[in-house]
Order: sequence, then structure tokens, then C-alpha cells
Amino acid sequence: MTNPQPRPNGDELERSIREIGADLASAFPSSARHPLRSLDARAMDFASADQELKAALFRFVDVTPACRSLDDLARHLREFLREVPEAPPPLAAAMRMADVKAARPAIGAAAAAGVRHMAHRFIIGETPASALAVLRDLWQHGVASSVDLLGEATMTQPEADRYAARCDEALRELAAAEASWPSRDVLERDSIGPIRRTNVSVKISALTPLLRPDAPERGRRDAAERLRPLLHQADALGAHIHIDMESLDSREAVFDLVLDVLSEEEFARGPSAGMVLQAYLRDSPEQLERILAWAAQTGRSPPLTVRLVKGAYWDHELVQATQHGWPAPVFEVKAECDRNFEALTRRLLDARPRVRVAVASHNLRSVAHAIAYNRMIGGEDRDLELQVLRGLGDQLQDSLASRGLRVRTYCPVGDLVAGMAYLVRRLLENTSNESFLHEQARGTSLDVLLAAP
Ligand SMILES: Cc1cc2nc3c(=O)[nH]c(=O)nc-3n(C[C@H](O)[C@H](O)[C@H](O)COP(=O)(O)OP(=O)(O)OC[C@H]3O[C@@H](n4cnc5c(N)ncnc54)[C@H](O)[C@@H]3O)c2cc1C
Repeated sequence: MTNPQPRPNGDELERSIREIGADLASAFPSSARHPLRSLDARAMDFASADQELKAALFRFVDVTPACRSLDDLARHLREFLREVPEAPPPLAAAMRMADVKAARPAIGAAAAAGVRHMAHRFIIGETPASALAVLRDLWQHGVASSVDLLGEATMTQPEADRYAARCDEALRELAAAEASWPSRDVLERDSIGPIRRTNVSVKISALTPLLRPDAPERGRRDAAERLRPLLHQADALGAHIHIDMESLDSREAVFDLVLDVLSEEEFARGPSAGMVLQAYLRDSPEQLERILAWAAQTGRSPPLTVRLVKGAYWDHELVQATQHGWPAPVFEVKAECDRNFEALTRRLLDARPRVRVAVASHNLRSVAHAIAYNRMIGGEDRDLELQVLRGLGDQLQDSLASRGLRVRTYCPVGDLVAGMAYLVRRLLENTSNESFLHEQARGTSLDVLLAAP
């Protein structure tokens, strides 16, 4: 475990970040390209450059699962693209073909295949059972996983019951299958003790239809009723439950719920559990202090795992704030968000063993910073977990695993309809001009990619 060491000097830290970043990048395949390029490269490139086209394409992706026929799909494509003043030539040609009834099924089929292809990069199977082969393959390549059951916001109590039942079933199926996997010391132990193979990410908004900012207590109570049995099940199976974080309007309820339930006597010794901290929120340093104070006060064991992310709802938070005339709760300058992410990384690493730390990012600089700082304060590599999203962080995942670091890949499971909100979020994020992956794909030099924010 980390011994208190003198603070690393800034220049040394920067040097180490550049070395680690360059080493990780050297393990990327030479043909490595943007993860979205190979799918529908041109549409995505056009979309990155043209906001109206991007909006139209995303509305189309969103509507795909609801279309009844290929003809229907082609008509939607045509209608959405009509809103774009100057569609690029290949899309304009598709639009013209969609005017011809006989050509519509072919256009619809091509468009549907494109959307499905894109979805399959991010979503590893329709059910946990069908995802097992991918999970096992990852494990054999030195990569742990966390399974996320797609579904998102729940509107009714039966839907919440169904989601809880699916989580329970996933815990059981995964634990049963994963028990026979070969041992992988780097993935299964840190200096605190065992790390669970079976790891399921859970969304509180899917555990209750009552999560509303104006009545948080009702939502919390209702979600707690479904969360407790899942925690018992995870404890019995030796699994880990990770609570995802969603938009700010549910943040307080989720924080209170997780910290309160995990403080209960019956969960004082397990299961292994974790929550998420979003560095794009201006008040995230205070939220982290709250978590650390809770951890010190409860002394819960195993310690809470904190997954540090930047945050996936940036556009949504800005729109909400603008509509209500509120100040923006998120940083509006990317470099400020990145600097805060690094400051929170250091605070978290310094706070071990009160918490376990998982740094979740595809940004080589953010990841190299965490590894470098951990080493410079005398931390062991196994006391820092790195996490990526399936389909976006694949190269980084392989590179981290090849260097003997513990990496966990977040693997969504579900059908295309359930996965659409997730898919649109990933596409939005990665066509954003400020995304690291987008910068990398544009061929920005490693020196610039690894520079301090
Ligand atoms: C394993 C894993 C689990 C995750 N779980 C969650 C979760 O539970 N909840 C959640 O919200 N997100 C989650 N995410 C997504 C995460 O929040 C990021 O959206 C995603 O990882 C992209 O950030 P990055 O560091 O990889 O890339 P980068 O390209 O370095 O950062 C992109 C991020 O920077 C921020 N940003 C973009 N533009 C600006 C701007 N102008 N000003 C300020 N900030 C800006 C946004 O947060 C954006 O997502 C998870 C990610 C991973 C890898």
C-alpha cells in the first residue's frame, strides 16, 4: 500500500507522464485509427464537422429500433437528411435514392446494418449468457470487466422489478461461469485483498421510477428496496456491485442512497461495492471530500471503490442550466475539466487505503498521469485500477494489459432498443471536437496529446 512519500516535483511528474504515455502509445497497433473510423467513417467525419448533419444522423440512429420496415427506415433517413442544408455528396445520393420506392428497402437495409454494426462495437451481447464468450476472451487477455445491463430510465414499478431481476440473474450467471476461469493475479488482488471477478454496474434510475429531484426521498427509499437484495446476492456470490452516476438531477439522491445503504450494519463487511465521481462537475472536489469523510467514519471493509470519470452528460447539463437560467454546474473549458480530473486523481491516490481507486478514461494523458503519480508517491501498480469502455478504449485496454496493469472494460449488454441512449451518448462524445479520441484520430502529435492541460 502507498507509503507517505515526498510530493513529486512537477517537472519530474511531467517527464514521467511523457515516458509512460509514449510507452503505452508504442503498444498501439500501427494501423490504429479512431475506433469509429472503420464503421461509417465518412458519415462520422462529416458529422463531426457539421452540427446540423450530426443532429440529423443522431436522430436517425435514435429512431432505428422503432422503425417497422426497411422502407420506413429509408423514409426516416430521407426526412432527417432533408433538414441538413448541404448534405455531403454520398448522403445526398442516398437521399435521392430514398425517393424511389423500389430502392428504399436497399437503402433501409444498408442504414440498419450500419447502425447495428456500430452498436455491436459497444454492446457485447443481448444477454449476459451470450456475452460470456467475449468476457472470457477479455479475461484470457488479462482484462477484467464490468457488465452493464442496458435499459436506462425506468418509468413503472414492474420495469424496475424487471431490471432488478435481470441484475440478479446476471450476477448469478456471471459468477457461475467466471468461477472456472483461470487465475489472473494482477486482476484478482491488490494490497488490500481480493478483487472480485464478477463485477456488475448498476443504474439507480433503472431501479426505481420515482427518482425525481423534487422528491428525492421517495426515489431513494424505493431504489433501496431493490438495491439491498442485490447487495446481499453480490455478497453471497463474492461479486462486486458498482453504482453508475447519471445526470446531476439524480446525483444527490444516488450519493445519499449509496452511502446510507452501505453504512447499514448488514453491509458493514460486504459486498465489494463502488460509486462514481464526475470530474466535470465544479463541485466534485467537495463531493470527494464527502466520500472520504464517510469512508473514514464508517471504516467499511472492503473499502468503497471510487471510479473517477469526467462525466457523460456534459451537453445535457449545459442545456438544463441554460433553460433554467442556472449557472453551469460543469466546467465549460475542457482543460479545466482535465486539470480537475488530475487533481482528483491525486487526492484519491493519496487517500488509499480508505478507498480503492479506479481511473476511467480513454485519454492517454489522464491515464499516464494517474500511473505516473501513483508510482512517484511509492504506490504499487496493483493499487490503481484503470477502466475503459468497450469499443472506445480497446487499444488502450490492450496496451495497459500488455504492461501488466490492471484494466477493467465496461461492457454493456442488451438489445439495440435498450442500448440506443447509450449508443447515442458514445457517438456524441466521440464526434465532439474536444474529445481526446477525436484529437488522436486527427493525427495530433503525441507531444501535444501528452501535454499538461
Ligand atoms: C469504465 C467507464 C465507466 C464510466 N462510467 C460513467 C458513469 O457512471 N457516469 C458518467 O457520467 N460517465 C461515465 N463514463 C464516461 C466518462 O464520463 C466520459 O464521458 C468518457 O470516458 C470520456 O472521457 P475521457 O477522459 O475518456 O476523454 P476526454 O476526451 O479526455 O474527455 C471527454 C470528456 O470531457 C468533458 N468535456 C468535454 N468538453 C468539455 C468542455 N468544453 N468543458 C469541460 N469539460 C468538457 C466531458 O465530460 C467529456 O465526456 C465512464 C467511462 C468509462 C471509461
